[in-house]
This record gives sequence, C-alpha cells and structure tokens, in this order.
Amino acid sequence: MSSIRKIACYLTLMLLLNCVIQGEMIWLSELLEGRMFPEQNMRGDFEIYRDTLELVWSELVWFPVPVSAGNADAEVAFENSWMAERSYGGKRGHEGTDIMASVDEPGYYPVVSITDGIIEQVGWLEKGGWRIGVRSGNGNYYYYAHLASYAKEWNAGEPVEAGELLGYMGDTGYGPEGTTGQFPVHLHLGIYVPLGADQEMAVNPYWMLKYLENKKLSYSY
Ligand SMILES: [Zn+2]
Repeated sequence: MSSIRKIACYLTLMLLLNCVIQGEMIWLSELLEGRMFPEQNMRGDFEIYRDTLELVWSELVWFPVPVSAGNADAEVAFENSWMAERSYGGKRGHEGTDIMASVDEPGYYPVVSITDGIIEQVGWLEKGGWRIGVRSGNGNYYYYAHLASYAKEWNAGEPVEAGELLGYMGDTGYGPEGTTGQFPVHLHLGIYVPLGADQEMAVNPYWMLKYLENKKLSYSY
C-alpha cells in the first residue's frame, strides 16, 4: 500500500470514529437532559413548593397561645424539635412544634386559631389526644393536639376566624380515649401543605411560630 493510501485510510477511520463518538455524546446529553434530569420539571416543582409555603406565610395571623393579662408568670416556650425522635407508637420524627407551658396545669392556657379556616377534624386521636384540625382557605391544614378541652362543641365544616378560641392546652393522648398525664402540658402544632391530589407534606412550624411570637392576643386567664 502506498503511503498516500495509508494516510487516506487513517483519516477515513478517524472521521468515522469521530462520527460515532459525536453521535454518542449527543445521545448521552439528550438522555441526561431529557430523562435523568428533567430540568424543566424540577424548576416547576421548586416553584410549586415555594408558592405553597408563601401561602402559609401569608395566612398567619395570631400566635396560637394568647398572653395572660393577669398572670405574668404564665409563659410559653418552644424549641425547634423538627424531626426529633419520638417513640410512642413506633419510632418516628417529630412533625411539628411543641409549645411548652410554665404553668403545668391542663385547661389553663387558651389555644386560638392561627388562621381563618374551616374546622375539618375534631375528636380523639391516640397520639394527638383531643385534637382539632383547621383547613385554611389556601388548603393548608393546622393541627392542634393534646387539648384538655374544647371551647365549645365544634362540628366539622364550621368556619373559624383567626384568634378565635379553639380550646385549652392540655396533656391528652398517648393512649385510649381520655388518657392524660403521659407528658407535660403542651400544645403540639403541626402544619401540613397539600402536595398533588391526595398527598400532603408536613412543614416545620417552628419558623412560623417565631414569626408569630410578637403577634400575640391578650386573654384574661
Ligand atoms: Zn409534639
């Protein structure tokens, strides 16, 4: 074979190989963008999540426990215990914030609705005790648990206003109906946002409560 033909063969081979590699690169990048990393969808999900949280922020009106007009020693405190381990009823993460009471007396502290909404759930839950669940106009769910008692006989579907008395802080739950005293008096607050058709997602109420700390009603108790 002449050296010119050898060079021509070599160049042809290189050209073919280049075509194959280029083709694979295009195929690979299409696969990555289109199937493994659907960037358009991820951006869409992020925007949905951001907008959903913004709706929660926009509807917060009052801290759930009013200030005592009569007893300066009646205080409440809460920490960020998001997903801290809980063991009653199987190991799980803490999906909420516990507002603890300096006066460890069931029925002492009033609990008001943080938002406007509709009463959706009321009654006993093994883990939540006497609880009440309020659905806001934006579709978010506010769960108040371990109540000592209700302000009145609530019915599902009844409207409630932000700042309206729901019931009183207690220590109910962690057992069959009527169980009390399994833990100190506190209010467990959970906030759930809708996620698609039938799903919901718990968000950390700690930051919402921090925001509401200087938005407290004053009640005489
Ligand atoms: Zn809790």
